[in-house]
Amino acid sequence: GKGRTEVTVLVLGLDNSGKSTLLNTLRPQEQRAQYLGPTVANQQEQFSSGGVSFTAWDVSGAPRHRALWERHYRRAHAVIFVVDSADHLRLVVAREELELMLAHPDMFGRRIPLLVFANKCDSPHALAPMQIAAALCLERVTDKPWHICASNALSGAGLADGVAWLARQIR
Ligand code: GDP
Repeated sequence: GKGRTEVTVLVLGLDNSGKSTLLNTLRPQEQRAQYLGPTVANQQEQFSSGGVSFTAWDVSGAPRHRALWERHYRRAHAVIFVVDSADHLRLVVAREELELMLAHPDMFGRRIPLLVFANKCDSPHALAPMQIAAALCLERVTDKPWHICASNALSGAGLADGVAWLARQIR
C-alpha cells in the first residue's frame, strides 16, 4: 500500500528447489555470494533490496522447525513458493506443504500475492508451468492472487518477470 517502506517476502519451498540460488541471483551484484550453501531448515536466508526484505525457509525441514517459519507468516506481504520442476517425485510433497501454508490461520483468507516459481526450467525433465500449476492445484487458491512463472535461478531467466508481477500486486 501507500507509504509502505518495508515489504517482507517469504520465500518457501522444499530443500533443493533452488531458494538460495534464486535469492543470490536476485541480490544486487556486489552482495552476491560466490559459494552457496543450500537453505538450512532452521536457518534463514535473508537479504534486503530497495525496501524489500526477502526471507527464505525450507519447508521440508524437520517438523520441529515448522514453528520457526510459521512465526513469519503474519508479517509477510507476499509469498514466493519455489518448486523444482524436474523433481516429479516430490511434487506431491510440495503441494502438501503449499496447502499447509495456505491453510494456516495467519495466511488463510489474506489477499497477499502468491508467486510460484517453476524453477529449473532448464532441466531436460522439467514439467511446464501449466503442469506444475495443475499438480499443485493452484486453481483452488481463491483467497490470494497467484501467478506461476518458469524460472532458471542459475541464469536468472524468468526471475524479473515474476518479481515484476509481485511488485504490481503489492503496490
Ligand atoms: P535450496 O535448498 O532451495 O536453497 O536450493 P539451492 O539454491 O541450494 O539449489 C539446489 C541445487 O539446485 C544447487 O545445486 C543449485 O545450483 C541447483 N539449481 C538451483 N536453481 C537451478 C535452476 O534453475 N536450474 C538448474 N539446472 N539448477 C538449479
